[in-house]
Amino acid sequence: MSVPAETADLLAYIEASPTPWHCVAETAARLEAAGYTSVDETAKDWPGDAGAKLYVTRGDGSIIAWRMGSAPPADAGFRVIGAHTDSPNLRVKPKPDRHNVGYHTLGLETYGGVLLATWPDRDLGLAGRVTVTDGDAMRTELIRVDRPICRIPNLSIHLNRGVNKDGLILNKQTHLPAVWAIGDTETPGAFAAWLAGEAEVATDDVLGWDLCLYDVQPPAFGGRDDAFIFAPRLDNQHSCHSGLSALLASDEDDAPKATSVLALFDHEEIGSRSSRGAQGSFLRDVLTRVAGGTASDMARATASSFLVSADMSHGVHPNYADKHDPQHRPMMNGGPVLKTHNEWRYATDVESSATWRAICRDAGVPCQEFVNRTDLACGSTIGPIVASSLGMKGVDVGCAQWSMHSIRETGGAEDPPLMIAAMRRFFGWG
Ligand SMILES: [Zn+2]
Repeated sequence: MSVPAETADLLAYIEASPTPWHCVAETAARLEAAGYTSVDETAKDWPGDAGAKLYVTRGDGSIIAWRMGSAPPADAGFRVIGAHTDSPNLRVKPKPDRHNVGYHTLGLETYGGVLLATWPDRDLGLAGRVTVTDGDAMRTELIRVDRPICRIPNLSIHLNRGVNKDGLILNKQTHLPAVWAIGDTETPGAFAAWLAGEAEVATDDVLGWDLCLYDVQPPAFGGRDDAFIFAPRLDNQHSCHSGLSALLASDEDDAPKATSVLALFDHEEIGSRSSRGAQGSFLRDVLTRVAGGTASDMARATASSFLVSADMSHGVHPNYADKHDPQHRPMMNGGPVLKTHNEWRYATDVESSATWRAICRDAGVPCQEFVNRTDLACGSTIGPIVASSLGMKGVDVGCAQWSMHSIRETGGAEDPPLMIAAMRRFFGWG
């Protein structure tokens, strides 16, 4: 079966991005290859000519890229696509070494709303960033140990007879430590010494780490007709990839008046409240400078701007169809899903939804709609956070998927090109 090139490219993007920091590095590499230039937040002046293509990162986990429009932002505003780079996972504790009944295990913490029962019996690698001594200074580098060195073994059904009736209940403290060696004696700092070897530095030079476990099985197309994609981190690297691909593709379109912006944030899965999260100052700081530097420039730009908050949507599940409202059942490969919530868990309102539908119609892309069942609590996104803190109108959209927050999720293979086409049209809209 032939598969869409955009979707094959999405799978490559996900494979390159086992952590939010790798996701930002991959995004930056693609921007550089397309002629974008890195700028530093400490620099006094940034280029502001029409058509200038720039990007800036904060804390390795968040990145904002923009292409200046043909008109000043204060006159023509911003077209912002926002998404998040992080996904729920398990992370290595600062002092992870544990020894029990002859096995060496690693203490782990959960990050975000992990669907824990999907992690046992997976081939787990380790990736993240390590800070090391560098002469009199220090540096932080990305690391990826891409082989199955960790395991969280399930308990045999013979020792857990009720598991299929009662469900798999995992205690985060006692059941998650990952097995990674046999027979070691207790040596303080054994993990740090191993990590130093992987990073090719002396043990004493390892100052600390942010390390995530991840499934080393690569993403794949699946189903009888390759209608599906099976992959980790669809929430929300799928949306990061769509926004990035749309930004790069829109380079070939007529130069828009508005300034095109892609804002990818870390820390959405833990509430966005951090120096580089959507609730922090990053986007406001960057857009204010790009708008001209004054509060008045920024207020004028914001008033004519539009935000597309892109995050994944729950597709109706054939075995649990009653979990959806009967009139709002997004289908895989049915195109972008417009998400609405009366109490503002999403940034969509009546006017912005009409704008998004018009954009989709113009791009020749079908548009689906989602609202939660009224008796279920609704999730949220960066949409309401950015829309409320900047005072910017916008919508929440995303492609349908199953198994959100599982170690391996399912999406539709036809959806990425549809979302990219709609987002590409958005950058030139209005
Ligand atoms: Zn998400």
